[in-house]
Amino acid sequence: MNQKRIIIAIDGFSSTGKSSFAKEIAKRLGYIYADTGALYRAITYLAYNTGFINRRNTVDVEGLARLLPKITLEFKRNPSNGLSETWLNGVPVEKQIRTMEVSNKVSHIAKQPLVRNFVDDILHGMGAQRGIVMDGRDIGTVVFPDAELKIFMTASPQVRAERRLLELRQSGSKESFDSVLKNIMERDYIDTHREVAPLVQAPDAVVLDNSNMTISDQFVWLSAILLKRFNITI
Ligand code: C5P
Repeated sequence: MNQKRIIIAIDGFSSTGKSSFAKEIAKRLGYIYADTGALYRAITYLAYNTGFINRRNTVDVEGLARLLPKITLEFKRNPSNGLSETWLNGVPVEKQIRTMEVSNKVSHIAKQPLVRNFVDDILHGMGAQRGIVMDGRDIGTVVFPDAELKIFMTASPQVRAERRLLELRQSGSKESFDSVLKNIMERDYIDTHREVAPLVQAPDAVVLDNSNMTISDQFVWLSAILLKRFNITI
């Protein structure tokens, strides 16, 4: 069946399960998936390794301004598992950008206007044809204010910290619950208080609080909206 192709913008707090939800929606609809946080993470990883953000989170904005035009940042499909992965300067960095070190610095890099402009250009290119699901903080408000469907995801900080801790443990990290919760709350604060493109709910977004929902509950919720508003079946 030939269905209308739309942009689905999923914004919300850290560790609300935006990426898992967005990835699965893209898979079921045959859409592209863009993990916009991964782009900020990759730039943070690079900035840290090149000394453009220091231990005190001071950012060398001029250094970044010289560096960014020279880098390549893209998503590529890994043929062995079908998943989309982040590549920086021709090298896969998916694992390196998920560390606590990067998580602790990313919001300081993401609040820089020149970084946001750089990422927005990549995203505008990706979304030009529609048929895309993007998750982030400012997709429905700034990057694609004309997105047909905007979802704002939230869950309690404790539930989010538990989910994030589980992910970190699965990748061998020994991080404590308290440090993960602290990181989540700090990122919430910086992301909602920054001057440029802060995390806010778009007035036309639908709110999804998934504190007590499974992924299949979320799909029941979503399929009703897609059918009613766009006549799209998922
Ligand atoms: O989604 P994720 O937690 O991986 O995002 C990492 C960080 O990137 C966020 O805490 C936020 O500072 C930044 N970000 C952003 N705008 C987006 C996506 C992510 O500022 N659209």
